[in-house]
Amino acid sequence: MSKFNVFITRPVREEIHAKIAEECEVDMWHTSAILPPIAEKIPPLDGLMTYGHELVTPEMIATSPNLKVVSVVGVGYDHVHVEACRERGIAIGHTPGVLSDTTADMTMALLLAASRNVVPADKHVQAKQWLYYDPNILWGYDVHHATLGIVGMGRIGYAVAKRALAFDMRVLYYKRERRHDWEEELGVEYADMEQLLQTSDFVTLHVPLTEETTHMISKAELELMKDTAILVNIARGPVVDHYALYDALKEGQIAGAALDVTEPEPLNTDHPLLGLDNLIVAPHLGSATIQTRMKMMTMAMENLLAGLKGEQLPYAALQPNLSP
Ligand code: NAP
Repeated sequence: MSKFNVFITRPVREEIHAKIAEECEVDMWHTSAILPPIAEKIPPLDGLMTYGHELVTPEMIATSPNLKVVSVVGVGYDHVHVEACRERGIAIGHTPGVLSDTTADMTMALLLAASRNVVPADKHVQAKQWLYYDPNILWGYDVHHATLGIVGMGRIGYAVAKRALAFDMRVLYYKRERRHDWEEELGVEYADMEQLLQTSDFVTLHVPLTEETTHMISKAELELMKDTAILVNIARGPVVDHYALYDALKEGQIAGAALDVTEPEPLNTDHPLLGLDNLIVAPHLGSATIQTRMKMMTMAMENLLAGLKGEQLPYAALQPNLSP
């Protein structure tokens, strides 16, 4: 029997590659450089394994009449054209849940780093400027007993709330469907977007990228925030209007921001945001731990192999009707 044609858009661990290669002809983008649009690179495919960056467009899908599955190594699949997949009966797999705690840990890392000036402190010492104990430099903001506003409280937002409560924070949350059970269980409080932005000392974003959430944080929302507030975005770059954010940070409308995701990714090296000293940017590291990335790759491999055989995906974002 001929093997399935599969393309993997970023290098995966050798053992994952070997397992997929048992059943597939595997082509993999080996370099760390930016991948050209997928359709230009590859022959007709049966399966595609991709991370949350390379656009999977209707045009790309049209070049592969036998494409059966798009397996995303990640939970967000906003870069995949869902309607085009639905029309063609192509399954979409993703890796929800397994990365929630890891991404929540990174959220707290960014929040603490931004509030306690961890990055400028390191730069200060590395620049050999630590010549005596100076009690008047790099004052930050207390995290304990401060108010955290969680925008989009699903799997990751819930895990962030638990961590914040351990810091004795007051936790507000906003999502479209209120969760009275979580309010009772955790002691978190529901707030509408306006209340949340006005009241919170820290605002952290955990919504998926959709039409509704694109530029959900823009000029008007930043104006509602306290001038001592810090914004954390670990969801998707376009949830925040970066030009409005630049103005807000520059003018002291808010105190600081920490971004794990940007628009675009990567940011151009001359992007104005990069010159600001009240901003931290990480290169999309939310789920980047050894343990979690291995679990994600394994789940994505299982989705890929199931989809190629026309079986139910174990972790499906979109599952076409299976033939009986
Ligand atoms: P999830 O469990 O689906 O949670 C998403 C939450 O957003 C839900 O509570 C949902 O509640 C809410 N939401 C959706 N649309 C909204 C809207 N228009 N207004 C307000 N709330 C809205 O997803 P998750 O697993 O927590 O992941 C969230 C996102 O994080 C992913 O989609 C991905 O883009 C991003 N992520 C980033 C990284 C990273 O490395 N930086 C890692 C993992 C995930 P309602 O439906 O009730 O509104």
